[in-house]
Amino acid sequence: MIRTARSRLNIALLTAGIALSQTITVAGGDWEVIKVGGHDYLTVENVSSFYGLPAGVVARGEKMRFETVKNPLEFVSGSREAMINGARSWLCFPLIEQDGKYLVSRTDVAKTIEPLVRPHRVSNVGSVQTIVLDPGHGGYDKGQVSRYGNEKDFALDVARKLRPLLQAKGLRVIMTREGDYFVPLEVRAKIANAARNSIFVSIHFNATNDDPNATGFEIFSFTPRGAPSTSDTALTSSSFNTQPGSGVDAQSMALSACIYHSLIGHIPEYDRGIKRARFAVLRLTKVPAVLIEGGFLTERGECKMIANEDWRGKLAAAISVGIENYRALGVKKQPPMLVADYRKQSCSPLRSFRESAAAL
Ligand SMILES: [Zn+2]
Repeated sequence: MIRTARSRLNIALLTAGIALSQTITVAGGDWEVIKVGGHDYLTVENVSSFYGLPAGVVARGEKMRFETVKNPLEFVSGSREAMINGARSWLCFPLIEQDGKYLVSRTDVAKTIEPLVRPHRVSNVGSVQTIVLDPGHGGYDKGQVSRYGNEKDFALDVARKLRPLLQAKGLRVIMTREGDYFVPLEVRAKIANAARNSIFVSIHFNATNDDPNATGFEIFSFTPRGAPSTSDTALTSSSFNTQPGSGVDAQSMALSACIYHSLIGHIPEYDRGIKRARFAVLRLTKVPAVLIEGGFLTERGECKMIANEDWRGKLAAAISVGIENYRALGVKKQPPMLVADYRKQSCSPLRSFRESAAAL
């Protein structure tokens, strides 16, 4: 078990470069905590040996893809980008190099690596009876408008396809909207908070003005206390210190991992990664919550695919397998299926979770 550093960070001190180290013993292994500017770091070597997972560090700017990455833990020097068990995963803080050692922040070991590598060890993980499906936007809020249709309609259709798949697994499903009308974000969160043993799954499609070629899947859960969101590039100390965290941070991360591995394991879309954000629906929900971005409506080819009803059915099926894997964490206390496990299965259409598990 790793004790979580809950102290507030002073990012200004990070650059001061004052280093001292101390060895502490926690259950399961020795952690050598290295202080850099008042912030705790651990060596990549230490993390690797603790989890018994080979780790590598690639040079800054090197492209990492599932096919090229060799180690279960792969970091990028000077970057927040990492590949954890074959899925791109974004750290809160960049990997730093000091005295010939690569250092990863203690916050990331506790808040990112631990729930991604051992989601089955997260407390209260998987105890779920109700899935609150949240199709993004609705009514006057069309979301992204594309030549093939609107985000609000695609999101609702995926939720409608997903509902019977989850019900068939014995789960109760509540939708935050059943039709084409707008529901305020705080009401969506309230619906999830009022349901017993619920998880919240928000469905969206992506858009960007910056890069017309941008494609791929990404998934978000709420940014931990004292950490920046993945999209924060201008790091100021105030953005780190003033934002509260979530009591179900680790469960949300485990849910992200389960759904995301199924998504990229079943559908060959670009892997943009497991990310953090302080979106209103993630901030206001008190239950494990994720927001899925199921591809870009601003990229012509991907947009056309999203507009295809069969493809949306496939997306819904992949999400349902991910949710079932999340529930299984609580029952079996075993690691969930990973992208490599899904890809090892034949490229036949999605098999049921039971068949998938039996094939392992
Ligand atoms: Zn949206």
